[in-house]
Amino acid sequence: MTTCTLCGQTVDSVSHVAEDATLKLIQKMYPKWVSRDGGCPKCLDYYQNLDKRVNLLSD
Ligand SMILES: [Zn+2]
Repeated sequence: MTTCTLCGQTVDSVSHVAEDATLKLIQKMYPKWVSRDGGCPKCLDYYQNLDKRVNLLSD
């Protein structure tokens, strides 16, 4: 068991962010977060989708 740095939930395991744009987005919202902290699947899903929406808006 481990803790997701992003939502604070106790989860079985955290995954690491693969997309560079998603990494930057999370770092903007959580300046203390580093990529090796990773996040639970729920958070990664959320930020990956958010990132897509942000990209759509800025186009
Ligand atoms: Zn999480």
